[in-house]
Formats: sequence, C-alpha cells, structure tokens
Amino acid sequence: MTNIVPQSPNSNRDTWVALETYCRKLASAGNELYIVAGVLGQGGSGSNGGTTKTLAEGKIVVPESLWKVIVILPVGDNDIERIDSGTRVIAIKIPNRQSIKSNWGEYRLSVNELEDLTGYDFLSNVSTSLQKQLESRVDKGETY
Ligand code: MN
Repeated sequence: MTNIVPQSPNSNRDTWVALETYCRKLASAGNELYIVAGVLGQGGSGSNGGTTKTLAEGKIVVPESLWKVIVILPVGDNDIERIDSGTRVIAIKIPNRQSIKSNWGEYRLSVNELEDLTGYDFLSNVSTSLQKQLESRVDKGETY
C-alpha cells in the first residue's frame, strides 16, 4: 500500500480515468510517456461528504489534491536528447473532492507552478534553459 492514496470517488472514477484513458491513447498512437505523480496538502472529500484529513485513526493522510507531470515523446531512443522546446509536457493538479469537473484539462497548470507548490524540481535532467521554456507553459493541447 505504498503507492496508493485515498481519493474521492468522483475524482478517481471520472477526472483521473479520463486522463489515464487519454494517456493510453497517446501511448497506443506511437508515443512513450514519462509520468511523475504525487499528492499535495491535506483534506479531501469522499462520498460521505465533509472534509476528511486522515483515515485509519490518523495513520493515513487524505491529500487535498493529486498531481501529475507527463512528458510525451514519440517512441525512440536517447529520450533526454530528443526533448526540445516543442516537446509536449502536461502538468495537472486535481482537487481531491467530490465536486469536480470531469474534464481534466481544466486543471492544467505550468510545471513552474507545480514546482513552487511541491518544492520538487521536475525535468531536472533537462538543461536549465530548456526547463525554463518547458516549465513556464501551460499545456493547451487536446484532452481526449
Ligand atoms: Mn525543473
């Protein structure tokens, strides 16, 4: 149970599924995807309503939101060298609550914003100048 977190049913069954389905579609179309995922904050809502901060007598934290950074490349070799300013990078942060939009695209943000929120340095194997370009953008590509 080290790689699962409590997630609101609507967020999990609707918004996240749509994103995962879209990622599978990209992979089936000849792409490879690098995906990093994690959680942020504390306090989400489940089917019981209200806000829950912990489960199992405080042993499990209910996150406030869940995020992903997705790098999309055509299938190939030497992936780091193939990342350039045109590479599509999707960053999202989706609230962990029942009242949620089903279109995951509504929750896109820049990698920079996610770095500020999480304290992580994403895409750190890419050059600093390229990170500056890729991380300041908010993805506007198709979502399904
Ligand atoms: Mn970075």
